[in-house]
Amino acid sequence: MALEALEISGERLSDELDTLSGITDDSRPGWTRTAFSDVERDGRQWLASRMRDAGLEVRQDSAGNVIGTLSGRHTGPAVVTGSHIDTVDSGGRYDGMVGVLGALEAVKAMREAGMTLDHPLRVVGFFGEEANEFGLAHFGSRAIGGTLLPQHLELRNSEGVSLAAALQARAGIDPQACMKARWARLEAHAYVELHIEQGPLLEDHKRSIGLVTGIAGAQRFTASFSGRPDHAGNTPLNRRSDALCAAAELTVSIEQIARDHPDGVATVGVIKVSPGASNVVPGHAELLGDMRSLYSLWLKDRRDETLRAAQAAGASRGVQVSIAWPSITDPTLFTEPMQRVIGEAITATGHDPMPITSGAGHDAQEMAAICPAGMIFIPSHDGRSHCPQEHTDASDLLVGVRALAEALVALDKVDKADLA
Ligand SMILES: [Zn+2]
Repeated sequence: MALEALEISGERLSDELDTLSGITDDSRPGWTRTAFSDVERDGRQWLASRMRDAGLEVRQDSAGNVIGTLSGRHTGPAVVTGSHIDTVDSGGRYDGMVGVLGALEAVKAMREAGMTLDHPLRVVGFFGEEANEFGLAHFGSRAIGGTLLPQHLELRNSEGVSLAAALQARAGIDPQACMKARWARLEAHAYVELHIEQGPLLEDHKRSIGLVTGIAGAQRFTASFSGRPDHAGNTPLNRRSDALCAAAELTVSIEQIARDHPDGVATVGVIKVSPGASNVVPGHAELLGDMRSLYSLWLKDRRDETLRAAQAAGASRGVQVSIAWPSITDPTLFTEPMQRVIGEAITATGHDPMPITSGAGHDAQEMAAICPAGMIFIPSHDGRSHCPQEHTDASDLLVGVRALAEALVALDKVDKADLA
């Protein structure tokens, strides 16, 4: 069946995007449908009913994922696509939603054209992709991919409530059962996700579509500096152990460390100071930040370099320093055959794919644990995302959905072993 027969409807897609984005917490700016909120549960219900209307067989699994299946000519492993419908607080109208509703539009067009894949096709609205108040992202896709661990359920928010308790009380998910959402490798043939770029590169290069080569690994650090609190008036500068000055030196060093070795980024996002008074020399300071790269070795070398820089900053000021790396996530490199098949699918739509790395995490990285995975990016206007200004042009949405449909059909034709 020629794919030209597919009538992807931009109008239908934008109607669905409007309706879903209308399911929002009106008390917050922009669009807000965070996991563990009532509106997010409403959103899942709405999605399930829209999937049913599109002719999919729908279930909500034990981890809150909404899964719609279209039968193929054969039973067995499914070609899988999807993304998430939760948002950050005060977020936008495209992040995640484009991948779920774009997939649904592709399915509608395929059914209307009488097109059937050999494999079953699964569209997944993953639960809780955004980092939540418990510090965990990708909840639903972790559960499916097998990277959700029992200790994750013990994570606590700032009020001391466990993730397990919140799942039960606020998300309608049984924490005892959520691990059962895991898929066997046999269930998935391949996974491809359409997503907005959330950065400026496609627009800067005047390109409509990107082929994602991989997802950067991320390592979070905390750096603690213990000096001595003293009177800000009567303690001479050469007699101080100023914890904040040492922390500030490391903050600037960390930016320089990333600049000196391209291929990654490093950020200090939080500085905590105590006692925190204008007339007291800071006795304690703490930095929180992260570093990201597609290269594991880059990340490891920067850990070593950060430790050396921290020790130097502390030693010159008589400040004790300790560095911890509470979370290190390895990069996800999409396989060369997956990139080739998806790249050819994009080319078939008449667009030239721009290779691009994702600095942000995505559900695709969890799915890569069970099957060959890949991603397609479409532009974010001005690079803005996770804010109300998030915007993707309707014409780019259409290009993305058409490429997604082409990729699903192409992946259906290739043996799983040849995609690895
Ligand atoms: Zn997203």
